Amino acid sequence: MRLAGKTAIVTGGARGIGAAVVRALAAEGARVLVTDVLDDEGKHLADELGGNVAYRHLDVTDEAGWREVVAAAEREFGPVAVLVNNAGIVEFGTIEAQPPESFRRVLEVNLVGAWLGMRATLPSLRRAGGGCVVNISSTAGLLGYTNLGGYVASKWALRGLTKTAALEFARDGVRVVSVHPGPIRTPMTGGMGDELTADQPIARFGEPEEVAAMVRFLVTEATYSTGTEFVVDGGAATGVVAPAA
Ligand code: NAD
Repeated sequence: MRLAGKTAIVTGGARGIGAAVVRALAAEGARVLVTDVLDDEGKHLADELGGNVAYRHLDVTDEAGWREVVAAAEREFGPVAVLVNNAGIVEFGTIEAQPPESFRRVLEVNLVGAWLGMRATLPSLRRAGGGCVVNISSTAGLLGYTNLGGYVASKWALRGLTKTAALEFARDGVRVVSVHPGPIRTPMTGGMGDELTADQPIARFGEPEEVAAMVRFLVTEATYSTGTEFVVDGGAATGVVAPAA
């Protein structure tokens, strides 16, 4: 129970990777505020996990909403020691084809949402005496992908923002790291087939719990790591399998 007495906020925590992170942090004794726009699923998860886990609606692009959520977390559980910026969306389209409003929407949720979250939570992290921020990026923050320009741009930017935050928050005892999952079986990847992972060294989709295990490690044990990347991708970003000569 390495997080007993600590308060955590997880965005996009109602399902997928976020829900697995909520479970992992709660299992370490953390008091977790689950936030999402999927209210039924979020409430259901909080009810299942009991008194140390609560749910609140938060669209991460809503600056006033962020202030209310941090205040609610402090009121109900105490100052926030852990923030996991996990909420994210994916929209497809080549640079030529993706409508500008789609490109902007992806940046707004995946990048601006995390930026708003770090701004809103920093005073509480100070009051907690320090802590850890985990930004869920992607292998799309390490590589380029066709048809995913907005998503790739958002995840590279989140990776860079993590480094600035690590530098700025260090004086308050706050570590800031990015996590880069490869293909993980969640509702986001529901329509994708196994051929996507066929050339990876570990040739299967990952499970949300495998990402959550990394987040738990970063929050509880990685006391000398900040401003850097942690990859959970079955080796997907290692290289390209060339055709036989
Ligand atoms: P998911 O779609 O299952 O979960 C994403 C959650 O974010 C959902 O509960 C959704 O309601 C919430 N969300 C979306 N927009 C929001 C908003 N504006 N405000 C608040 N919540 C919002 O997807 P997932 O696979 O669990 O993805 C979680 C994170 O992991 C995302 O940032 C995603 O980009 C990243 N990721 C996923 C994969 C993968 O293969 N699944 C790979 C790399 C990175």
